Amino acid sequence: MKKHAIIPVFIPHKGCPNDCVFCNQRKITARTDDVSAEDARAVIDTWLTTLRPSPAPSSEDAASDAGAGTVEVAFYGGSFTGLSIEEQSAFLAVAYEYKQKGLIDKIHLSTRPDYIDRPILDNLRAYSVDTIELGVQSFDDEVLRKSGRGHDSACVYRAVSLIKEYGFEFGIQLMIGLPGDSAESCIMSARRTAELRPSLARLYPTIVLDETKLYDMYACGQYVPLSRKEAVYRTKEMYKILDDAGITIMRVGLKSTDIIGEGGAVNGGTYHPAFRQLVEGEIAKERIEPLLEDIAKEKASADSRCRVTVSSCSRWFSAMIGHHACNRRYFADKYPSLDIRYRTDTTLPEGRFTAEIS
Ligand code: SF4
Repeated sequence: MKKHAIIPVFIPHKGCPNDCVFCNQRKITARTDDVSAEDARAVIDTWLTTLRPSPAPSSEDAASDAGAGTVEVAFYGGSFTGLSIEEQSAFLAVAYEYKQKGLIDKIHLSTRPDYIDRPILDNLRAYSVDTIELGVQSFDDEVLRKSGRGHDSACVYRAVSLIKEYGFEFGIQLMIGLPGDSAESCIMSARRTAELRPSLARLYPTIVLDETKLYDMYACGQYVPLSRKEAVYRTKEMYKILDDAGITIMRVGLKSTDIIGEGGAVNGGTYHPAFRQLVEGEIAKERIEPLLEDIAKEKASADSRCRVTVSSCSRWFSAMIGHHACNRRYFADKYPSLDIRYRTDTTLPEGRFTAEIS
């Protein structure tokens, strides 16, 4: 069993009267029907069959099974706490029941910062919710305004302060390339996020979906999507800030299953099925290059090629090599005097590299 499994229950646009320019929630979540609490139960049961193939006959067995990994039910999609308290409670009661039986370990939900207040948090606490993920998108008020978010950055601080007071874990989602955005405002947003110390974050480059205001803005030239290069650059800078602050970066870019093909989506390169690998590959390149540069300078006068071993932990191995081996090719071309080999070193922390003459 996986160490940490998330059972996603998508609640498309339910509870959200807002109209963020980039959002077509029904398309993003690939669901068009309203989801009921009983649908949520069916989703959880289906996932549990895969995650825990032998359903535990008693709560004692279930609890011991839970020790094999963490299973989290996550209400994603719309703005969960924008639902009426009764609707929230109906969904939460289902998740709570599974948590009490030891079949799941945590309850997680995503919502907007302006849908956080004491009565809402009291209710979430009553149902033993663990993690609240806030769709913040940007800390730049002008970007929030141009994106039609309907709240400002002060609202984010109020929400986070209340969430911390109640003791929930929390996460922050940020977007890259929204209207009015710049590299500076993206970096500022990552810094503000790091200061708030969430336990997790997600980074989503903006995608222009059909049937959104952003699409209209794009069609009339009011909005220009970022190039892939710029999207990777901004995301990389934000990633480093969050990672250095010890924040778990749960997602970088949308998954292919998040985007529904009919009609397609305009993205100017901001969508890539392996966007995270592009970003982590750039980080790896940036960190490995000075190591190779030093060795190449040191060995400049040597007659023969010098063999160098570059190492990373196993999770970062593919980032070290680069998407479609682009880093390997880049280093081979740039340092012809070096015979570079790549290997894993399990003693290395994530995102750290060594280069040694071998
Ligand atoms: S708040 Fe969330 S669900 Fe609602 S319109 Fe904005 S992005 Fe979409």
